[in-house]
Amino acid sequence: MRLPPTRYVGRFAPTPSGPLHAGSLVAALASWLDARAQGGHWLVRIEDVDTPRCVPGAAARILQQLATCGLLPDAPPLWQHRRSAAYASALLTLQARGLVYPCGCTRKDIGGHTYAGTCRDGLHGKAVRAMRLLTLRDGADVTVDWSDRRLGAQQQNVTQDVGDFVLKRADGLWAYQLAVVVDDAFQGITDIVRGEDLADNTARQIWLQEQLGGPRPRYWHGPLVLAADGHKLSKQNGATALDLAQPLRALQAAARVLELPALPAHSHDDWLAQAVLAWRARWMA
Ligand code: GLU
Repeated sequence: MRLPPTRYVGRFAPTPSGPLHAGSLVAALASWLDARAQGGHWLVRIEDVDTPRCVPGAAARILQQLATCGLLPDAPPLWQHRRSAAYASALLTLQARGLVYPCGCTRKDIGGHTYAGTCRDGLHGKAVRAMRLLTLRDGADVTVDWSDRRLGAQQQNVTQDVGDFVLKRADGLWAYQLAVVVDDAFQGITDIVRGEDLADNTARQIWLQEQLGGPRPRYWHGPLVLAADGHKLSKQNGATALDLAQPLRALQAAARVLELPALPAHSHDDWLAQAVLAWRARWMA
């Protein structure tokens, strides 16, 4: 679908491992509000590369929940399971640049530490399991500096803190890092608005963008909904599906997490319009 030109393209990129919960609605609302507040486009991408985590029917349910909330994408969703050819082509590009190597280490070999680059100089007789991206710049550590609109200046030494990371997994599936970078570039995403739990991936994604020659988006990592145990809300610690019998209530709860003031609501549409203004005042000042 061809959209009119805009300087801003945002996205919400859920993994269809279940329906939206209170936490994922916060991410969806934040990215929608930022796109609307900046007069941009808002896209949805279904991140169904990690097939063992995907639940049949969850993607359709998520899209329906977004629609119930009035969060409507400006184009049909992009499905990552249809994007294998693009990921394979990106891997070839990186291979041609000498940045990819096969790795034969098992999880046990790595032992929960940062991957030490064991297979950089060969497989040492092991069978190929995963494909990894070299994190070396002119033979030195890769340090990425980036700036987050909410969190401020950030820095990570990717080589030390993460190590050479996986692009294609031992089970043959494409890794999240590769898929997300290839698709953000393909969809022309200028602004990534997502939960703070993903901030730690950003340096890796910027390094990959640079190697693939893509532009760097702006980033806004938002507050998380915490469960009673203080951890991020997830299906493992009791996140239940949203009750969308009263979608406005769910949106109001999400807006509180985003530090927006209580807004008078004459109607659902009116609330959304006011939330856009409140977002502008809170996060774009
Ligand atoms: N699919 C990821 C998730 O649901 C989000 C990816 C992203 O926003 O970059 O956690």
